[in-house]
Amino acid sequence: MESFDVVVVGGRCAGSALAIYLARAGARVCLLDKARFPSETPSTHVIQPRGVEILDDLGVLDPVLARGAARLDTLSFVNDDVRIDAALPEDLRCPGLNVRRTVLDHALQQAAASAGVEVRTGCRVAGVRMSADRVVGVETATGPIEAGLVIGADGRGSVVAKSVGAREYLARPAGRIAIWGYFAAGPQEPRIRLGRKGDLGFLASPTDSGLYMAVVGVDCDRAGDFNRDREANFRNALKSWPELDDIVRGAERDGPLRVMANWHSYFRESAGPGWALVGDAGQFKDFFAGQGISDALCQARSLSAAIGSATGSALAQDEATKKWWRARDRSSYDMYWLAMQLGRPGASSPLVSEVLRRIADDPTGGATLLKVINRDVPSTKLFTTPRLLAATFTTLRKYPHRRRETLRDIRTELAAEIEKQRARMRSKTSDGWLPVPVGDAR
Ligand SMILES: Cc1cc2nc3c(=O)[nH]c(=O)nc-3n(C[C@H](O)[C@H](O)[C@H](O)COP(=O)(O)OP(=O)(O)OC[C@H]3O[C@@H](n4cnc5c(N)ncnc54)[C@H](O)[C@@H]3O)c2cc1C
Repeated sequence: MESFDVVVVGGRCAGSALAIYLARAGARVCLLDKARFPSETPSTHVIQPRGVEILDDLGVLDPVLARGAARLDTLSFVNDDVRIDAALPEDLRCPGLNVRRTVLDHALQQAAASAGVEVRTGCRVAGVRMSADRVVGVETATGPIEAGLVIGADGRGSVVAKSVGAREYLARPAGRIAIWGYFAAGPQEPRIRLGRKGDLGFLASPTDSGLYMAVVGVDCDRAGDFNRDREANFRNALKSWPELDDIVRGAERDGPLRVMANWHSYFRESAGPGWALVGDAGQFKDFFAGQGISDALCQARSLSAAIGSATGSALAQDEATKKWWRARDRSSYDMYWLAMQLGRPGASSPLVSEVLRRIADDPTGGATLLKVINRDVPSTKLFTTPRLLAATFTTLRKYPHRRRETLRDIRTELAAEIEKQRARMRSKTSDGWLPVPVGDAR
């Protein structure tokens, strides 16, 4: 039977990046993906500077720039009448990027092959092979493959996770569905736009090949109505943000509107004897924060370091991947909840609007927002206690007739904060990890 040190199932940002790092460290790696590349996958392709740095390390930045990837160095965050504009510092090593997955994932796979990884596309993995309680390989349509370690980088529907029975915890339902399209809008400034107008959410940015991508987020409970006449409703939704409408109005659309409706946020048990999960296979969060690709790349780097640190026994490897899983969780909570807040259905409450107004009024607010989105600093640097208290008092004073609603909004924000802190505490207790069963969490 064929045998490798590591078999990685799934060959996009998590899997290809991990395979490259492991191969560079001298491991014999086989990368399997059921898709044939170039291949599209649901995504809006915003990559934070911290993710772009990894693309650079992997030798993939220049090839994707050569294929027309759009650099992003300014952000406009708009919440009804509040606007925050910010520019990335000029001395940052890499800008943000937007490049469609047909281009990015293919370039990553080509880099994996160049690094000596055995890349097999069009190869579906049916499940893992077990020996006693240990994963020892995978079953594919073309036969079994043996491996010292099997990595599931196979996305939200991970077959590796299913085969090993990895449970979900801290799962939360989707707030919105996403509907997006690509427009031949001509040259555009390198600006990402993130917005909320009434109960609609927006994400927009130039992408590769001179195209412009515009996403509309619609509350899940309004999705049925919206989809009844999706084309007209999408156009009307864009009109509620005139600066975005100005860019895409009259521009020819490239392909149909894309829709992402069935999803939820979750963490999954991500390591066990002979296996680990990386990227979306192990954790998925609201995509309006544009974090998944950078997270997948960063996790690939940290997981490869953890695997590399465990030389010797299979037991040492299991310990290292388990430790990595816990560290991944601890570093993920802040953005997990912030992403949920950004993607929360319904219009912004007066309380949230007041907090954002105070950030907009602070000359350093925009720069801090960019640092939070790039995960350089925690969200508490933005949502400081004095700012939250001041916003609460102003809201109570400004809207005396809605005191009850404001108190309810405060309770909602506090409950989210308490949940986050509880998750953080639980992950610190080494043997106290008890995943919340999926049914309880959603
Ligand atoms: C609508 C939407 C918009 C998003 N927008 C952004 C954004 O703007 N910025 C951002 O950073 N993130 C965004 N994300 C999240 C981002 O797309 C994911 O976090 C990222 O793709 C995770 O990469 P991955 O490699 O873990 O998994 P995936 O990209 O899902 O790749 C998994 C791979 O595994 C393969 N596979 C699956 N099962 C098998 C099997 N049985 N055998 C072999 N191969 C298999 C699949 O073919 C696939 O190629 C968005 C997500 C969605 C849904």
